[in-house]
Amino acid sequence: MSEKSKSCLVIGAGICGLLIARKLSCAGIRVKVLDKGRGVGGRMATRRFGGGRVDHGAQYFTVRGPRMRELVRSLENARILRVWSQGFHSLEKGFVRDGISRYMALNGMSSIAKVLADDLTVHTGVKVSGAARDGLHWKVSDDDGKVWVADYLVVTAPAEQSLQILGLDPGLLSAEERSTLKSVQYNPCYAAMVRLDGPSRIPPPGGVWCNGDPIIWIADNRAKGLPHGGDSDTLVTIHASPEFTRRHWDSPKAEVAAMLVSAASEWLGDSTVLEVEAHRWKYSQALQQMDPPYLMLDGTPMGIVAGDGFGGGKVEGAVDSAVLAAEAFIEKIQTN
Ligand SMILES: Cc1cc2nc3c(=O)[nH]c(=O)nc-3n(C[C@H](O)[C@H](O)[C@H](O)COP(=O)(O)OP(=O)(O)OC[C@H]3O[C@@H](n4cnc5c(N)ncnc54)[C@H](O)[C@@H]3O)c2cc1C
Repeated sequence: MSEKSKSCLVIGAGICGLLIARKLSCAGIRVKVLDKGRGVGGRMATRRFGGGRVDHGAQYFTVRGPRMRELVRSLENARILRVWSQGFHSLEKGFVRDGISRYMALNGMSSIAKVLADDLTVHTGVKVSGAARDGLHWKVSDDDGKVWVADYLVVTAPAEQSLQILGLDPGLLSAEERSTLKSVQYNPCYAAMVRLDGPSRIPPPGGVWCNGDPIIWIADNRAKGLPHGGDSDTLVTIHASPEFTRRHWDSPKAEVAAMLVSAASEWLGDSTVLEVEAHRWKYSQALQQMDPPYLMLDGTPMGIVAGDGFGGGKVEGAVDSAVLAAEAFIEKIQTN
């Protein structure tokens, strides 16, 4: 392909943006990835906390389809993944072994993104404020007033944020494209990270599907095998239900953290809570599956929007969206 002189900006260094960036790069396009976060990974987020590490966004992922299987196979050499479990404890049924492997990353979920970003040009700490078409090029502005120029544009921020970026130029999106982006919905999720001075009562292998209100999931990051800081410390992740999260969206984070710790008391056992921190995820699990799982923008220069919001949610949905979006985009580039 004679695209070596062509360039592309990819907005978002979550798993979707990074996979698309890798595929475009393999096709000979010069790619730069921009992300507003301090690091890569997006919602596959691992935080340093209490001297250890906590997965506080995505907890694990499944491998149901061929694209996710291919990604797991390609990561085998990096030796960063393992099957965590084929099920978890549930409140109603005890341990549910459903035979479906849930994968985790040995050093936290964000380490998967770090491996994928390895040989890419990624600029973190860059918050994109808007994108506009200017003749044959895209001009992308960030919050620091810098303008990035490229031949192609890929946007993988959650759909509402993608709409803000692309909607700044009033003539850029058609009415249909706007309404597609507006239709993409996600559940919100409050996550709390808790440091205990001793063991939790979360049963092996370290996760419980609580499926309740206020708590839908609780995990013991020490049992999961992540670094835990102090010798006797245990780091716990609590995920709140969408209903609880909506009810308490504007409450002070410290109050929400205290409510979640209190609701989780049976799983925290007799250990003392040394530290707790709550984080508000506006977008956690996407609620729809689109066909195709991306939005190819009309007009030139060429642009595409992708992400888990189009692929049915979860890590696997983001991977499906990425692979199919990249294939369609490269084919369109080659035939233009
Ligand atoms: C609390 C929680 C629990 C979850 N649990 C699971 C689970 O157990 N299993 C599972 O499979 N999935 C889970 N998920 C969902 C999973 O994390 C996501 O589906 C997946 O990571 C989405 O990847 P993505 O690349 O599409 O989006 P993201 O990871 O959101 O990546 C988008 C990136 O765009 C960047 N961005 C946004 N706006 C801008 C801007 N203006 N300028 C620059 N950059 C921008 C963001 O910083 C982000 O890094 C969970 C998510 C959350 C939040």
